[in-house]
Amino acid sequence: SEAFCERLLIKKSVFFKRVSAFPVDLAEVSLLNKLIRTSLVESSHSVEILQQDPSSPLFSVKSFEELPLKKELLQGVYIMGFNRPSKIQEMALPIMLAYPPQNLIAQSQSGTGKTAAFVLAMLSRVNATEKYPQCLCLAPTYELALQIGCVIETIGRFCADVKVTYAVRGNRGESGPEQIVIGTPGTMLDWCFKCRLIDVKKIKLFVLDEADIMIDTQGLSCQSMRIQRALPKGCQMLLFSATFKETVRAFAMRIISNPVVIKLRKDELTLSNIRQYFFVCRSREEKYRALCNIYGSITVGQAMIFCQTRRSADWLSMEMSQDGHQVAILTAELTVAQRANVIQRFRDGKEKVLIATNVCARGIDVQQVTIVVNFTLPTGQKNRPDFETYLHRIGRTGRFGKKGIAFSMVESQNVELVVRQGMSSSNNHEVDESDRSHGQN
Ligand code: ADP
Repeated sequence: SEAFCERLLIKKSVFFKRVSAFPVDLAEVSLLNKLIRTSLVESSHSVEILQQDPSSPLFSVKSFEELPLKKELLQGVYIMGFNRPSKIQEMALPIMLAYPPQNLIAQSQSGTGKTAAFVLAMLSRVNATEKYPQCLCLAPTYELALQIGCVIETIGRFCADVKVTYAVRGNRGESGPEQIVIGTPGTMLDWCFKCRLIDVKKIKLFVLDEADIMIDTQGLSCQSMRIQRALPKGCQMLLFSATFKETVRAFAMRIISNPVVIKLRKDELTLSNIRQYFFVCRSREEKYRALCNIYGSITVGQAMIFCQTRRSADWLSMEMSQDGHQVAILTAELTVAQRANVIQRFRDGKEKVLIATNVCARGIDVQQVTIVVNFTLPTGQKNRPDFETYLHRIGRTGRFGKKGIAFSMVESQNVELVVRQGMSSSNNHEVDESDRSHGQN
């Protein structure tokens, strides 16, 4: 929400460092994707389940009403606009809400509904009449912790007596932590053992989010383990991860005893529902004219335009602004708070064009955007074509991905390569009749 971005901006002087271009910061990418996303990422696969005791019954639900949720929480679910549980929620929610509590490891790609699921579990387990911390949730960064807090505040808005505290750098917790504490492992560790703000023996539910990012960030997995080890025997443990490489699996199995493990495979990106066009251009001015022609011939809702360098992004942004477009620009020089703000404004429709440099946009999921323009085709080392980045920029996931349209400006010398890839040429700057209303539908 806008308030969230404002909070990020206020805190930026204290919490944010300048973003270096490489390597890609996974926590930042995860945050920006959460901000750009407006809806669930659907999957065509079914959920795989592994459990140590195969005889214990597992069931899935097709509606939120079948779950043992308090009416205040159902109201929260309706406020979020959720009609039915997502694929991962169908299986995970009955496990998370079961009595006696069960431990769970869940892996599915970002955007499939994991956060909403564990937020419902935390809000269900809390006893609102007791004012001490009962649920702990660990996230890799301050910003991701805040993002989870926003979801708790929205889904839990009818649970009047349940409150959240953030165990993050800069917060000393003077007023005493509330029933749900979300934080980063380092500060949470201090709150548990140094300042003793939290009585770990009273914790009923422990959530470890984004386990794969924790593992990749120095120190976080050790700190998480130290907290986990001190928790009482009956404490329910839930662990979430977008990926499940061997190191993550080993960490997850070490930290969570006797878990049910559920996994949802990621859909592959395809180009089958994307129309691809290219324009052959000799100069950047010609590329710009081609871009103007796109705007002249089809109705563009929102577009994301990729440039190779910061300089060309700046130039394009200036040209487009002069021609009356509302343009936002995403470059690696911005702090994560500033980038979050740019993305939020774009998502809210305040700007219709988002120009991004390659480095900065890496990993960002643009599924929501219908039109993608490669002002320069992506290249890697030695100027070789970077097919993977091309696919990530314009590809969508199978069955559920919205139809998309992609334009690429190709420098004359690269035409042969593009033709070999089988794109259709729009050399005469004409676009299919069927695409004319694109962006309105
Ligand atoms: P993850 O934690 O796996 O990244 P989230 O819980 O953040 O996924 O959900 C991704 C997006 O989908 C969010 O915008 C969230 O509000 C929405 N969402 C979650 N569950 C549902 C649901 N059951 N129905 C519709 N939208 C949902």
